[in-house]
Amino acid sequence: MRKWNFCAGPAVLPEDVLKEVKSEFLEFNNSGTSIMEMSHRSEIYTSVAIEAKKDLIEILNIPKNYDVLFLQGGATHQFSMVPYNFGHNTKEADYVLSGSWSKKAISEASKIIKVNTIASSEGKNFTYAPDPNDWKVSEKSAYLHFCPNETIQGVAIHEPPIIDKPLISDASSVILSEPLDVSKFSLIYAGAQKNIGPSGLTIVIIDREFMEYGDQNIPNILKYSEHSNSDSMLNTPPTFAWYMAGKVFKWIKDSGGLDYFSIQNNKKASELYKFIDESSFYSNNIDIKNRSIMNVTFFLANDDLDKTFLSNAEENGLLNLKGHRSVGGMRASIYNAMPFEGVEELIKFMEYFESKYG
Ligand SMILES: *Cc1c(COP(=O)(O)O)cnc(C)c1O
Repeated sequence: MRKWNFCAGPAVLPEDVLKEVKSEFLEFNNSGTSIMEMSHRSEIYTSVAIEAKKDLIEILNIPKNYDVLFLQGGATHQFSMVPYNFGHNTKEADYVLSGSWSKKAISEASKIIKVNTIASSEGKNFTYAPDPNDWKVSEKSAYLHFCPNETIQGVAIHEPPIIDKPLISDASSVILSEPLDVSKFSLIYAGAQKNIGPSGLTIVIIDREFMEYGDQNIPNILKYSEHSNSDSMLNTPPTFAWYMAGKVFKWIKDSGGLDYFSIQNNKKASELYKFIDESSFYSNNIDIKNRSIMNVTFFLANDDLDKTFLSNAEENGLLNLKGHRSVGGMRASIYNAMPFEGVEELIKFMEYFESKYG
């Protein structure tokens, strides 16, 4: 039986999508083979791939001067691909440090270019995010990199800054959760396994002019323009993940698009935060203006009860609520595919647990 899965990633997928994929699993579209057993250059697969890209462009309303790439290597690979492509001229870039993932991005970029950490909330254990109004870009920096939703801490920057520098966003855990003005960014990347599909796929949305400015003397596999010129088929792409992402895009469209999910996601998160705030047993320590809509972290009043909480939750059909080991406590990841009902069940369980142990 399927249970409520609050995993941070690979995360819950829409049940309708899983069912449809199951029904097509052995044979896709009268082809005589599974979609996984097919050449990525075949006519059938190519049309699946193109349609997925078209749907993503439609959902996010991506302007024509952007390309969308379907790559591998996860968001982590982007940590080095970005500086390899764009650090070649000035050899420096600005980074904002607002949680564990931006810290990793900085650490990787530092091996390739000079990183200016222009704002940081590390001193307060990433319990807030530096205010974009206070970010001062450096003169020589090639771009500004930030992470709008820090998956591990549950800390978000809800408004991108208005800044005269190419803006690069690691949107892995927030993409497709709400409408996004793509034109504000030069590059947006996201690992698929949070809000898009299965792992193995990374989406990159990139301004074509910015892309052409990139270093041409790096290996092809690292070069955005090379991937773009070959329609993300420079080498064999993750065909199954791409196909499934296409199914998720259709599901998003059929559900009412990003406006619908924005309302749903805000409703889910505010219900959960409200419950936590009103309780004296549970607490969230993130500044209210930086609270994540996708990853809700919380602590029990007594962490000796953490293990009991997790095992009781599991017995009640609520899975993967353990917080990241670097933060402790609990984390409920409530991406698009988590229905409101799942959050209600979580709150019900938290109430029961508090009444028994609180
Ligand atoms: C999950 C995550 C990553 C790492 O993704 P991989 O695909 O495992 O490389 C990076 N950044 C953010 C914000 C994430 O949520």
